[in-house]
Amino acid sequence: MTIRIFHQPKTPRLRRLAAALICALLFASRFALCADTGLLEKEGDLWMKQERPNEALACYGRILDKSPKDAAINKKAARACMKIAEAHIAKSEYADAAFFLRKAAWHNPGDSAPGDALERVKKLDAAATGTHESAVEQLKQEYGKRPGDAAVAEKLCAAYRDWAVYSYRSGYAERALVIVNEWTAFAPKDASPLILAGSIHYQNGDFERAADCFSRARRIDPKAAAMLKGIQEKMGRERSIEQGSRSRASGHFTIFDPSGAGAIYTADVLAVLERARTAIMSSFDLRTDAPVPVIIYTGQQFDETTGQAGRAAGLYDGKIRINRSDVEQGRQRMENVLYHEYAHAALVHAVSPKIPRWFHEGFAQYNEPSQEKPETYAGRMADFLRKGTDLSRGIDSLFSGPPQLAYTAARLFFRQLVNSYGADGIRRLFAKLRKGTDWRTAVKQTFGKDQSELEGEFAKTFRRL
Ligand SMILES: [Zn+2]
Repeated sequence: MTIRIFHQPKTPRLRRLAAALICALLFASRFALCADTGLLEKEGDLWMKQERPNEALACYGRILDKSPKDAAINKKAARACMKIAEAHIAKSEYADAAFFLRKAAWHNPGDSAPGDALERVKKLDAAATGTHESAVEQLKQEYGKRPGDAAVAEKLCAAYRDWAVYSYRSGYAERALVIVNEWTAFAPKDASPLILAGSIHYQNGDFERAADCFSRARRIDPKAAAMLKGIQEKMGRERSIEQGSRSRASGHFTIFDPSGAGAIYTADVLAVLERARTAIMSSFDLRTDAPVPVIIYTGQQFDETTGQAGRAAGLYDGKIRINRSDVEQGRQRMENVLYHEYAHAALVHAVSPKIPRWFHEGFAQYNEPSQEKPETYAGRMADFLRKGTDLSRGIDSLFSGPPQLAYTAARLFFRQLVNSYGADGIRRLFAKLRKGTDWRTAVKQTFGKDQSELEGEFAKTFRRL
């Protein structure tokens, strides 16, 4: 708009003024870009010195967004990728290591180190898989010597399950399905392998095979039948919308697009999700392994599948579901929704599903890249409390009331935890939960206080406002 006014000035004097202004603007914007880039590079280098390659990579990535061919920055990005890959190798996370090694090779094609490391990672991965495989082989031989031995059979089933789950979580769904087939052949009266296979097919968007596996499992195990019936009904609704929709996959996400948004839109969604994954991995040490299914719906499709149109722009229920007509309100909204839903997915995948609702929502909102200013919602919260909202029954109880209040409380409570104990405190909490410690104990051990004590402190802060 502004530019059009400058383009048709009415007098020569105005024209000169306009030209000067345009030059100043162009110069300023170029200067801003340089300053920005220089600062980002310095910030990235600092992160590298502090052994925080994920943060460094994010800085270099932002420079490369603007100038993708910058050779020096590409080399630095490659070094950061190599560092991240090394950390994954140390934790035996070979699928992630391979991802970053490929990324390193892409940033710096002249260097042979990433390719060599990738070969090494493939061997390590095969060895790790080999331990699962040899456990199965050993138990098969044992069972051959003592056919019908129930204890050995049970161990063999457990070994099949571990191998299949390991393969699936490492991103090898096809391999997992082959193992599950062998398991089914060994234990045809056991519904577990069929339920696992059905879940993998469902995650892959293969509704037909999933339905077949679940039907067979229902016939075998009447106890699981009621649960599976519910899943099959839900799947039927999704199937009518999603079957045959185009899909697009990266190592970490598989996107289905029944809304017909198109390749450019889905590539964009994929890129934002990959950034969300890197960001949450580096700040909180949480990540998803197996590809997360992502489905992009029109408003109507979203409503038919979830019944949440008008109330949510996205949701996570094992798959990230996005309401495109809502997300299209703007770039910021889209990024916030994708980071938010991915944060839920990362919590569920990496920690445990048994986390209170307020923590899930607080964590998800905290990870939105453009959050509201804390003062805005702190004021809103203080208002709610003045109107007599009761926090004494715990923050989770707020979710039975107006959602805006519950979400605001969750957001503020989580932020207060980060302010008091740092992201490191949250990482320690996750580490305990990952080991299987229950929520209450993990909170007490990490923060030295019960959740109710923390909630008490939180309520006091807002009474003072
Ligand atoms: Zn949420």
